[in-house]
Amino acid sequence: MSPMRLLSARPLLALSLCALVACHPASTPAAATGDAARAAVTDPAALRIQADVRTLADDAMQGRETGTPGFERAADAVVARFRALGLQPAGDGGGYSQRVPLLRATRIADGARLQVVRRDRTITLRFRDHFLTEPNVDATSTQLRAPAVFVAQGVSAPDLGHDDFAGLDVRGKVAVVLGGAPATFGDDRRAFHASRGEKLRALAAHGAIGAVFVDTAQDEANAPWAAQAANWDRPQLRLRDADGHGIDTVPQLRVVARVSAAAADLLFDGSGHTAAELARDAQAGRLRGFALPVTLSLAQRTQVAALDSRNLVARLPGSDPELAREAIVFSAHLDHLGIGPAVDGDTIRNGALDNALGVAIVLETARELHDARVAPKRSTLFVALTAEEQGLLGAQWFATHPPQPLAADINLDMPMLLAPTRDVVPIGAAHSSLQQSLQQAATALRIGVSADPFPEEAVFVRSDQFAFVRAGVPALYLDGGIVPAAASVGKRADAATVPRLAQREFLRRCYHQPCDDIRQPIQYPDAARMAALNARLARLLGDAARPPRWNAGDFFGARFGAAAASTPAASR
Ligand SMILES: [Zn+2]
Repeated sequence: MSPMRLLSARPLLALSLCALVACHPASTPAAATGDAARAAVTDPAALRIQADVRTLADDAMQGRETGTPGFERAADAVVARFRALGLQPAGDGGGYSQRVPLLRATRIADGARLQVVRRDRTITLRFRDHFLTEPNVDATSTQLRAPAVFVAQGVSAPDLGHDDFAGLDVRGKVAVVLGGAPATFGDDRRAFHASRGEKLRALAAHGAIGAVFVDTAQDEANAPWAAQAANWDRPQLRLRDADGHGIDTVPQLRVVARVSAAAADLLFDGSGHTAAELARDAQAGRLRGFALPVTLSLAQRTQVAALDSRNLVARLPGSDPELAREAIVFSAHLDHLGIGPAVDGDTIRNGALDNALGVAIVLETARELHDARVAPKRSTLFVALTAEEQGLLGAQWFATHPPQPLAADINLDMPMLLAPTRDVVPIGAAHSSLQQSLQQAATALRIGVSADPFPEEAVFVRSDQFAFVRAGVPALYLDGGIVPAAASVGKRADAATVPRLAQREFLRRCYHQPCDDIRQPIQYPDAARMAALNARLARLLGDAARPPRWNAGDFFGARFGAAAASTPAASR
């Protein structure tokens, strides 16, 4: 799951939970060994998933960071499983690997500059303390000096009756912009317009030549400035085109920088406004842009290097010669965050839930479909994706370079299966006919279907399925359940029995940390049930006369679906 998951400042439940695995040794006999699920697992599917999670989340994989030997070892392990399952290779050149060309961009501190010039006074902000420049994959060294204009949240959404740029002259200027988007948009649209990529595109489209994002106190409650500043030299990745340039970058913006909440008022010097007041206006939905009485002088330097990673792609060919040309995709990202600062003496961010478990569920889905007597009529593709944590890059490459036309994507990312459940949460299904199909498959297997418990986090636009959506492919993000299993009813309510308590505790304590490892009480039987649901869904979608389709008038379908429908399948 990409780092944007914790969008909201929703407070975690103020319960003091003991460490998950040590809470109730009486109810989970293996808890003392730190692997509560192990003693209970007897179902063969659950055991296979457990074995795959153990392999992929092993310390030997070094946290599977894109571009590292650890990722390559994990990729080799997935290829070995595809081969053992008897699946057809669907990567490049008859193999299971699809090359994903990347650029790795690293900031250089020396040469980064942000100065605020007002009349004869110049304020120089300090790199790391006050500001960070964004790595620029298009130009290793750029600078500019231009008047500044505050463009509110930089959201241009005429279809939603909102345009932060109305009446502002942005051409040739540096845009100063707040994060977020109006709450009135609804969760998915708000998250879409709040994304950094959409904002950069809107700024460039309105003629800005530089951008300064201003943190609010609320932004930093979710992502503390100190943590970002400490990671200032962590590289960013972008997709690379055939000419060696970045894909989906915005070169018109010569320098993009970010300013801490503590330094924000320096930008609004002399404007009659404070940053805190503007953040309050944004919350209240009454924020307006205005010209700033200052000139900004900006410079950045970036070290850029080419890098290749890979997606792993396998196919179960469809059983109908016509429909087999289309594919239903099951995807899960394989990459994680590698080695990082030590926490309790552990530096390896193993990513057991995020997302060894998702990959393992996709592998078990493949096994179940492959071992059935007849394959679904449409083909089924099983994909382990790279560079999700770096911005859904592997998914974007796959969705725009698919081995065959794609009819739908079912994505698994970080199923938080830490207490027994009896349901699943299909996020984003309501945008398309996938909702009815998922409900039908779940009903047949007596699996409950629950609504997204955290809609304000808008995870539908924050994991790999969104790269498929952008390519016009109906998609859903299948997440773990939230309803306690029947066996938990009547037991003491804690993280061992109440899924949402366990999930909140995980997000607070282990998400993207070294403790997201196999010592957690991962519910492998629930994972096996998700795989069975996937297999049933693959058959429903694969055998249907028509492929899944966007709902009439859907926001994403209208925005992205039409382009895909009018594009010849062969060139998609
Ligand atoms: Zn993640």
